[in-house]
Amino acid sequence: MKKFKRILVANRGEIALRVIRACKELGIRSVAIYSEEDKNALFRTKADESYQIGKGKSPLEAYLGISQIIELAKAKSVDAIHPGYGFLSENRDFAKQCEEAGITFIGPTADMMSRVGDKIQSKLVAHKAGVGTVPGVDEAIKSEKDAIAFARSCGYPVMLKASAGGGGRGMRIVREEKDLLAEFNNAQSEARKAFGIDDIFIEKYIENPKHIEVQVLGDEYGNLVHLYERDCSVQRRHQKVIEFTPSQILTQAQREAICEDALKIAREVNYKSAGTVEFLLDNDGNHYFIEMNTRIQVEHTVTEMVTGVDLVQAQILIAQGYSLDSQEIGIQSQKDISMRGAAIQCRITTEDPVNGFAPDTGKIDIYRTGSGFGIRLDGDSGFTGAVVSPYYDSLLVKITSWGRNFQDARTKAYRALSETVVEGVKTNIRFLQNVLNHPTFVEGKCDTNFIGKHPELMH
Ligand code: ADP
Repeated sequence: MKKFKRILVANRGEIALRVIRACKELGIRSVAIYSEEDKNALFRTKADESYQIGKGKSPLEAYLGISQIIELAKAKSVDAIHPGYGFLSENRDFAKQCEEAGITFIGPTADMMSRVGDKIQSKLVAHKAGVGTVPGVDEAIKSEKDAIAFARSCGYPVMLKASAGGGGRGMRIVREEKDLLAEFNNAQSEARKAFGIDDIFIEKYIENPKHIEVQVLGDEYGNLVHLYERDCSVQRRHQKVIEFTPSQILTQAQREAICEDALKIAREVNYKSAGTVEFLLDNDGNHYFIEMNTRIQVEHTVTEMVTGVDLVQAQILIAQGYSLDSQEIGIQSQKDISMRGAAIQCRITTEDPVNGFAPDTGKIDIYRTGSGFGIRLDGDSGFTGAVVSPYYDSLLVKITSWGRNFQDARTKAYRALSETVVEGVKTNIRFLQNVLNHPTFVEGKCDTNFIGKHPELMH
C-alpha cells in the first residue's frame, strides 16, 4: 500500500478545485499548477502550494506540457498526479511518463487507456466482451474508396467519427453520398488539428438517440462495480449541457442490462479507477456501446449525489492500492451501491444563447449563487471581480441539485438558477431554465437533438 503525502493536480478551474478538496479531506497535501493567465484563479489559492508553469507558452499549452509538469512534480517530491478531465487526462504518453518517473498517475494504466481510450480499439474490446456496438466498420478509413464502400455497407445516414475524438469534435453526419468525401476531409482535418491523429471511422447514424452512460469503479485486485447510469441526452452540438440520474426512460430490466454491459467492457480490460462507459439508446430501446472515457467526468457529481460515493476520493484511494472493500472505500459488493433520490447537473457557461452561444468575456460585476437544501456548487472562475478570459472553456459553475425524485430535483435546480445573478458577463442561465421547464424535459424524455429542435429555448 502506498501512502500519498503530496498530489499534483495537473488541471485548472473547477475540476482542479474538486481534486484539491478531495486531497484535503484525505489529509494529503495538494500542489497546484497554473498558467500566467490563471494567476488570479481561485483554485490555486485553495491548494496547499501552487507553481506557475508554461512561461512563454500559450494558455492552453501550459497545461499540456508533459515534461515540464513531470519535472515540477519531481522537483516538488509529489507522489502522484491527478489529471482531472480534458488536457492530459486521457494521454497515454503522460500516464506512461509519470510511471517511469516513479510518480503514480491517478487513473487507469497506460495499457488500459490504449485498449479502451481509442474509439476503434474500444469497439474491438466491446465485441470481445459480447457487447453490442453501433453498426459500422471498425477500422480507420484509409482512402476515399474506403469511405464510399464503408458508408454503403452501413447504409445512409452515417456518422464519421475521429478515433481519438472528444468533445464532439471530428464528428460529421452524412445523409447522402454526394456529401461524403467533403465531410470526410472536414472530419479528418478537424481531428488532425484537435488531436494530432486523423484516424476516421464510420458507423450508422442513429436518429434521435438518447445518451445513457454508466459510471464504473474498479480497484487493482479485479473488483469492479457500477454506480448506475446518467442520462446526458440534453446536448448542444454533441456536447452535454444538462445531465441527470436516474434515467426517466429506462425500465428496470433495461437498466440492469446496460449496467451489466458496462461492467463486461470494464472487466474485459480489468479496468482500474473511475471510468464511464457510454451508450446510445435508439427509439426501440436497444442500446449500443459508443465509447469509454478513462477519467473522471464533468457530470460525476450527479452520481455522487445519489450514491453517496465520493468518486474523486475513491480514485485517489484506489491509486494508493486500497481495494473497493477496504474500510476507506467501503464497497463490499455491488449491493452496497444504491441510488437514493435523483440529481440533475446544469452547466452554467459564459455563453450568450441569443447570439448563437458565442462565448462572452470580461469582468464579472455581480456574482450571487443559489444555495439551500439539495444544492451543490462546483465552480472556480465565478466571483465578483473575476475576469472571464477567452483562453479556456466557458464553464463558470456547475449547479447540481438533489431531490427525493426527478421532479423534486428539477424544481430545486430551477429555483437555484433563479437565485443566481451574474452581471457583467452573459450566461446561459435563462436558457437552462427554459430547458428545465420544457414539457419534454419534465418527462425526462429529451433526445440528443432536443436543443437543436427548439430554437425558442434560446430566448
Ligand atoms: P465525443 O467523444 O466527441 O464526446 P461520443 O462518441 O461520445 O463523442 O459522442 C458524442 C455524442 O455524439 C453522443 O452523445 C451523440 O449525441 C452523438 N453521436 C455519437 N455517435 C452517434 C451515432 N452513431 N449516431 C447518432 N449520434 C451519435
